[in-house]
Amino acid sequence: MKFDIKEEDMLIKPYKTEGPIYIREQKGFFQRIRRNLGWLLMLTFIAIPWIQYKGEQAVLLDVATQKFTIFSLTLLPQDFMILALLFMVGAFALFFVTNWLGRVWCGYTCPQTIWMLMFSWVEQRIEGTRNQRIKLDKSPWSALKWRKKITKHAAWLVISLLTATSFMAYFIPAKSLYLEMFTLQWSGITSFWVFLFAFCTYGNAGFLREKMCNVACPYSRFQSVMFDKDTLVVSYDAKRGENRGPRKRKADPKALDLGDCVDCNLCVEVCPAGIDIRNGLQYECINCGLCIDACDDTMDKFGYQKGLIKYASEKQLEGKKTNPFRLKLVGYGVLTGVLIISMVAWGLQRTPIEASVLRDRNALYRVNYEGLVENPYTLTIINKTQQPMHYAIAIEGLPKAMLSAPSSILVLPGLMKKIPVTVTADGYDIEKKVTPVSFIISANENPDIAITKTSQFYKN
Ligand code: SF4
Ligand code: SF4
Repeated sequence: MKFDIKEEDMLIKPYKTEGPIYIREQKGFFQRIRRNLGWLLMLTFIAIPWIQYKGEQAVLLDVATQKFTIFSLTLLPQDFMILALLFMVGAFALFFVTNWLGRVWCGYTCPQTIWMLMFSWVEQRIEGTRNQRIKLDKSPWSALKWRKKITKHAAWLVISLLTATSFMAYFIPAKSLYLEMFTLQWSGITSFWVFLFAFCTYGNAGFLREKMCNVACPYSRFQSVMFDKDTLVVSYDAKRGENRGPRKRKADPKALDLGDCVDCNLCVEVCPAGIDIRNGLQYECINCGLCIDACDDTMDKFGYQKGLIKYASEKQLEGKKTNPFRLKLVGYGVLTGVLIISMVAWGLQRTPIEASVLRDRNALYRVNYEGLVENPYTLTIINKTQQPMHYAIAIEGLPKAMLSAPSSILVLPGLMKKIPVTVTADGYDIEKKVTPVSFIISANENPDIAITKTSQFYKN
């Protein structure tokens, strides 16, 4: 699908690159979906760090100790694979949704959009409607203007600080974070990160707004690769709308040689990206549907059929049928499914213990004063559960061999321990010079938590 931006359109009605965009508040079907979804996602974001699991914070991404806890799952740096899979699932799911429904991620669920929506809502409550805000900004500084501006920025700053604190609660235990906040005991590093995130939220949602999407977000730049003629995007039905022009409500548009667009400009005034969708699909469009709600209201007032602006594919606008089983969409869907299955399979085969065995590099073997052959090793055990565990070690593969190791090794949750062990055997009991030996490490608390690691036993 091509972005249909004609040079003359850019000259007549350019994308607004200078000054703020005064967004008109719009009610309607798609705005209701955005608002409710926004609330749901925001409350979920705030609530997650407060969920408890077995007396501990259920989701805690402890960067300092490189330990991510998600309910019963503890992820350590060795589990990097799952994060790589997670990013790939996210990327292909996004490609799938974009090919199907255009940039709905941007319009409905992107945090930037949700926070922009929230900040705009606050602005509207304090400074008034679009026209009142334009008037206020043009007016000279007065006590009223100062009061409104200070109230708005104070409210934005409070929201930004709460957002940043909620975000930090994913990395620092929520209870202590909030307790230290109320007792003014945040450490320098905690204060630094909270104020940095708060500053970014305030700057992004309060000032940069759509410029962030248009200039900084890479997704808006490469989305066109995922679009095709079947992708549902917000489209203006030019065949029905043109010739555009104002008219009286009761007037017959055909008699005036007019289409259904009454040129009320509402679709432009409600647009958070500051574009005119009647100029065709533009990369700034986030598919939010606000212009559909605005135009439907106008169509209602004039007694015309709704849907002059609607979610439609290029094919639908040409009067053809959309193909729901196109190769690109099916391909993205299949890849997303395969990656999700791989993630589940990885999770099912994952054991909550990790171990390695390393031979002593200084000596292949040594012979003790009894004439027995000794091989030293270092075992490393990582406890990936959320409880302290005691582990026992046994060996297999060497007849009549003995293991010198502690009978019970305590490893705290999420930590690792190195244990030097020695295997001793009579050289006459072993046929080969090099024989594989297996170390079986099992948890005393749960014998199902066990792992086997193999190394070599050397003799003269
Ligand atoms: S053109 Fe319509 S759908 Fe696109 S960003 Fe503007 S209001 Fe949203
Ligand atoms: S809202 Fe509808 S009628 Fe009004 S200018 Fe936009 S397309 Fe035309």
